Amino acid sequence: MSPATSLSGQTTLVTGGGRGIGRAIALALAETGAEVVVNYSSSASAAAEVVSTIQDAGGKAYALQANVAVESEVEALIKEVLERSGRIDVLVNNAGITRDGLMMRMKTEDWQSVLDLNLGGVFLCSRAVIRPMLKQKSGRIINITSVVGLIGNAGQANYAAAKAGVIGLTRSTARELASRGITVNAVAPGFIATDMTKDLDAEGILKNIPLGRFGTQEQVAGAVRFLAADPAASYITGQVLQVDGGMVMA
Ligand code: NAP
Repeated sequence: MSPATSLSGQTTLVTGGGRGIGRAIALALAETGAEVVVNYSSSASAAAEVVSTIQDAGGKAYALQANVAVESEVEALIKEVLERSGRIDVLVNNAGITRDGLMMRMKTEDWQSVLDLNLGGVFLCSRAVIRPMLKQKSGRIINITSVVGLIGNAGQANYAAAKAGVIGLTRSTARELASRGITVNAVAPGFIATDMTKDLDAEGILKNIPLGRFGTQEQVAGAVRFLAADPAASYITGQVLQVDGGMVMA
């Protein structure tokens, strides 16, 4: 890691960092020398594995449980990070779920749970880190949205609405915080093989990917690391960086 892209001495928090894309993001941030807080909701052993992988490689990490859709749990999470680490430099809002179904039959609870976590969780975590970041006069917030938030997807009205909402939230927060040295950006993956996508029609989706292959968790993590750590990203805010093999060009 070149000194220019080092986050040595900094603390980063990845929501849902125990599995899938969040795990890859946690490992990529650890490579910058940053301390990584691995948040999880139910996957305690997966989060512990990420922490020991980072520690075995000489890095610093610890895991904290919190359901980031719940205000009191988010407040307690950020309080504990500040007590243990004394600072928070990078927040990656990665935690997300799907509860797919056609609009006509979508259950209100499936609408609500996806909005509560995928959009509400981003709001709660971002709001909670703003004060410490303002004090530090620096910070980077990176929200994981989806190309589905840009173009919609049949069977995912709840998920697409939440992910589109994340883009509006990203841009509004970016405008509010730009003068205070805090950048806020979104990363929009296309199709990445994880537990979330294992039941989807992969072959059908592949036809719509100009690069002709699916993305990897590491490729999404690379974009996040760039926005979090690269000095070149310090002049980027309010943007949506698509990591989608050219699936959506707008
Ligand atoms: P995944 O493998 O299903 O992992 C979901 C992660 O979210 C897990 O770490 C899970 O932790 C965490 N999580 C779920 N509910 C939570 C809660 N209430 N509080 C805290 N954490 C919670 O999904 P993924 O594919 O890695 O997705 C990661 C992000 O990328 C999501 O925001 C997703 O929408 C987005 N995305 C994925 C794709 C794709 O193709 N895979 C494409 C576009 C966008 P626990 O197991 O501890 O609950």
